[in-house]
Amino acid sequence: MNSTQRTNIKNAVQDAADLNCATYVVNMALANKPDLAIGICVDGTLGNGTYNAATKSIVFSTNFASTHVEVIRHELFHAYQDNIAYSGGIGNYSLGEPVYSNIEFEQALFHDIMMLHGSSATAMNYSEDEQLKGQYKTWIDSLTNNGTEYPDFSANWSTFETKYFEFLEEFKDTNPYYNAPIIGTLNRKH
Ligand SMILES: [Zn+2]
Repeated sequence: MNSTQRTNIKNAVQDAADLNCATYVVNMALANKPDLAIGICVDGTLGNGTYNAATKSIVFSTNFASTHVEVIRHELFHAYQDNIAYSGGIGNYSLGEPVYSNIEFEQALFHDIMMLHGSSATAMNYSEDEQLKGQYKTWIDSLTNNGTEYPDFSANWSTFETKYFEFLEEFKDTNPYYNAPIIGTLNRKH
């Protein structure tokens, strides 16, 4: 990787951290974890980017992808899942394996709760069911007090969990790429 590529990626990682408090927390948790260094390279891969749990690295398909904030943010979120949120990491949950849908839906839901694209919701983008999309948006709006607050899950965790798995089923069914067996438990980290 040359120095221009390095500088561009560094800037994109910074931009991803600067999006909002939540993405900042994700990036800082990774940055502050002892003995963790996330490798980054541009080397052709599936889609725009891939997080590889075995090598703790993010691989981008092109220079463009490596500097695209949303691609970086997406892959950093997987790095967060792997190194911070899931005690056993996400190495066993790769494409097509059980829990892969959970991992990707969690990413999409985080994106939507943070309203990283204004008010548009994205986890249901592949659905053609407008009613379903509307229900999903209503759920996001209720979680975030119409986009003004981060959710307080402590108040009604079981309601959240029920809805989470309902929409996870829809996410899995409407996106063939993310169609993998779901594990129906969501362990909350205390
Ligand atoms: Zn992903």
